[in-house]
Amino acid sequence: MSSNYFPYRDGQLHVSQVPVARLAEEVGTPFYCYSADALENSYRSFAAALSGLPATICYALKANSNQAVIKTFADLGAGADVVSEGELRRALAAGVPAERIVFAGVGKTGQEMIAGLDAGIMQFNVESLAELELLSQVAQQRGTTAPVAVRVNPNVDAGTLDQITTGRADSKFGIDATEARDFLTGTGSLPGIRFEGLAVHIGSQLTDIAPYRTTFERLIALYHELREAGLPLRRLDLGGGIGISYKHHLQEQVEEAEQRVRDYAQVVHGLADGLDAELVFEPGRLLVGNAGLLVTRVLYVKDNGERRFVIVDAAMNDLLRPSLYDAWHEILPVSAAAANAELRPVDVVGPVCESTDTFAKQRPLPPLKKDDLLVFSSAGAYSFVMASTYNSRPLAPEVLVRGDRSAIVRARMEYDAMIGQDRLPDWQNERADGDNPQKTALGAA
Ligand SMILES: *Cc1c(COP(=O)(O)O)cnc(C)c1O
Repeated sequence: MSSNYFPYRDGQLHVSQVPVARLAEEVGTPFYCYSADALENSYRSFAAALSGLPATICYALKANSNQAVIKTFADLGAGADVVSEGELRRALAAGVPAERIVFAGVGKTGQEMIAGLDAGIMQFNVESLAELELLSQVAQQRGTTAPVAVRVNPNVDAGTLDQITTGRADSKFGIDATEARDFLTGTGSLPGIRFEGLAVHIGSQLTDIAPYRTTFERLIALYHELREAGLPLRRLDLGGGIGISYKHHLQEQVEEAEQRVRDYAQVVHGLADGLDAELVFEPGRLLVGNAGLLVTRVLYVKDNGERRFVIVDAAMNDLLRPSLYDAWHEILPVSAAAANAELRPVDVVGPVCESTDTFAKQRPLPPLKKDDLLVFSSAGAYSFVMASTYNSRPLAPEVLVRGDRSAIVRARMEYDAMIGQDRLPDWQNERADGDNPQKTALGAA
């Protein structure tokens, strides 16, 4: 997160020109806030690093699928990487042209294949022979052929968390390179398939560039081999996964992340030289992660013996990453602490009835009291999209800021929308006296 987009002015944290405290008054807490300026900047720097290459940047929607976010990128020329029919619909609704949409994912259903074919997407990234057979059938039934890139598992360790590594031989993703060779060259039995390319994606939050080089080298070698064998391949999808810095308050770490994009681009430029292939990139976290905040309010401060707990109104249902991956998010006060404020280690926890509903343990923070506003930074990626209504907590709203303007781009979920989905079975409604207090209590129906 560049301090440009989230500056303190007169001691108050802003998103671009808008004070976070004012937004909190308007929409209530907790809420997510994204900076359109930061989103645009991250897209433009990534695109600039790749300039000169025949590249399509397909934003990986799963990192943040709010349509206003998607449209921010679509307006700059981005395509989309989708992994479900829901994401496909979101991408199309936000104005991403179908011919810039890649449909990835290890378990596409027949229905999802139809949706992709009917929309006319750029390619399906196929991950197994069984999937390829179904896609071929479905395409034939629709009287068309499906453009396909085969996702290859390069057997490279991305050196990231086990939960988000995807390119090792023991991973469920992709097809082993030798197998890929066999069935790509024996395509006679797949009349509904049009092989156009190869794809890889080795994991998420990669902070080391070396695994990319190994992966791309292996992919390119296979590409040449298959083309020499007569396959008309013309596209390489290099996936996403570039990591961001979560501890952005240290300037060196901001620079480290920017350096990472340059190093990545340098590897790609080096390998793409003289390569006859269109390139696809699927960045997710890189484009959105540092462009968002989760804003929360302190409910209580409680001392249990030696340990101090700061209980906030956001919880693991809003931001799952700390409980899911032990992820570290910077926590900043919205009103800057006094320069001489003493930092004291506290546990920052949410109200959900789970011990893992803990955002930070023994984090040194300035003095905090009830009603103070805090932000979790770098909450633009894998945050709202992983939110749930656990503990029957409504999904928090999302706000987009651009310059001095702000807009609610997703409203807070209404209680009725959440509990009104429940239905009582007939036998609970069948009451002899016709009086039906339960049904009334459930609203809707
Ligand atoms: C998740 C995913 C991405 C995006 O990963 P990031 O780490 O957010 O860049 C790209 N491609 C595929 C196939 C994915 O599954």
